[in-house]
Amino acid sequence: MNLRKFFEKYPDEASCIEGFKKKRLEMGIVCKKCQHTEHSFRKTDLKFQCKKCGSRISLRSGTVMENSNLPFQYWMLCIELMTLSKKSFSALEMQRILGHKRYEPIWLMMHKIRRVMSKRDEKYKLEGCIEFDEGFFERVDNKDVIDDKDDNNGDNPKQGKRGRGSERQAKVLVMVESEPSISAPKKGKPNRKVGYLKMVVMEDLKSETINKEVQKSVEKTASVLSDGYTGYSKLKEVIAKHQVVVEPDKKKSAKVFPWVNRTISNAKKVILGIHHNCINQQYVQNYLDEFCYKFNRRYFGDRLSQRLMIAALETTWY
Ligand SMILES: [Zn+2]
Repeated sequence: MNLRKFFEKYPDEASCIEGFKKKRLEMGIVCKKCQHTEHSFRKTDLKFQCKKCGSRISLRSGTVMENSNLPFQYWMLCIELMTLSKKSFSALEMQRILGHKRYEPIWLMMHKIRRVMSKRDEKYKLEGCIEFDEGFFERVDNKDVIDDKDDNNGDNPKQGKRGRGSERQAKVLVMVESEPSISAPKKGKPNRKVGYLKMVVMEDLKSETINKEVQKSVEKTASVLSDGYTGYSKLKEVIAKHQVVVEPDKKKSAKVFPWVNRTISNAKKVILGIHHNCINQQYVQNYLDEFCYKFNRRYFGDRLSQRLMIAALETTWY
């Protein structure tokens, strides 16, 4: 849906409530007390009432909006905007668009929507041939922010050491399905066909930690393509096949691993586009999940916001 269509369909809070109510009824409501499935709707307090035992549940309960006081239209418009393009909005931009006084509730709403995206993608495992690599995203912890203000020892979070990542960078394991193309590659295009993508912030990149994550995210039957990093040395214990390609030349390496290279650099652009420098470690995963969710549904087009809305109705925050 484009924004013109959105405002035609949902011009005000009442139409959003009506749209929301309709979607919930379509998806089905089950009474917690008596398991009856027929409910009437009370406009006065926005609650569904069980037609058999009379117990009530609120329109927001059991959805991502539970415990939120923000208008329904905020949530619907925010979902619409967050799925509109590959780019991402900062909470400050969203706050301005919605014209809301306070920053925090808008920031929290966006993170809750990102968690809906995360939970959706957690349901799927990667399969087939998968490129592996590590990405290092600039980040700063709460403690670092205070340090930077309080003591002036030139401890700049941007000046971390490079290579396999410094303490101040978030270590991210990037896994992307990538099958060799059957047709001849077009000029400047990768010679591998891309499928689904996962990006996971890791405590460390030791082989045990990596294997644990792989068991969660990748089918046992998969075949992995990676560089010779020692963290990948035990992959064979958890997947069917592991192919190592050591290619020190950067240009050639980008051809061997086209999709991990591209997705890491695009994710960095999107995240830096909204943050300009550093993000809190705790939230890096949420931003990556938003990026992956949209990447994995890049052919959904107009249907994406509706799909996310349905996911939001099925997901609670806690
Ligand atoms: Zn009931």
